[in-house]
Amino acid sequence: MSLGEVRNWVFDMDGTLTVAVHDFAAIRLALDIPAEHDILTHLAALPADEAAAKHAWLLEHERDLAIASTAATGAVELVRELAERGCRLGILTRNARELAHVTLEAIGLADCFPVEHILGRDEAAPKPSPDGLLKIANAWGVAPGELVMVGDYRFDLDCGRAAGARTVLVNLPDNPWPELVDWHAADCRALKVMLG
Ligand SMILES: [Mg+2]
Repeated sequence: MSLGEVRNWVFDMDGTLTVAVHDFAAIRLALDIPAEHDILTHLAALPADEAAAKHAWLLEHERDLAIASTAATGAVELVRELAERGCRLGILTRNARELAHVTLEAIGLADCFPVEHILGRDEAAPKPSPDGLLKIANAWGVAPGELVMVGDYRFDLDCGRAAGARTVLVNLPDNPWPELVDWHAADCRALKVMLG
């Protein structure tokens, strides 16, 4: 299958469609999370009261980031091209669905992603789990192998592999994970060119 033949596209959001702005080290510091811990995994293991308070802080912090989001190079043009071609478009993010929508509005792409095609951390187990991607494949009535997962980080690629989907790495000049990547593009503008 060539990239131009792919009909079902699932995107990571932060750092893929947007310019990455999360300072995860600062978030860990603010929430008293050890440097080597995954933030969502750490919060999930806390007592319910503490987890709720820290999730609330995270949501407010990320809301400010969402409102100020800017589009990554070529992201708007790529998504609009795919929409014009009639491709199905979804988002799988470790952010919250509500904030994904705020972010997509800020970069002018909210109309391309119906809210039911946006899965956040409350709708599916977070990446690298394949859970969200499998849910999207199921909702769209396609085999996972007919999906591509587009992302800027290893979790996106691991998720895609675990689901049996194809994977695209963007927004890194080099590809540190060749065994996990089917297509690599320096940015979304280059990826659009690869569609043919
Ligand atoms: Mg990302």
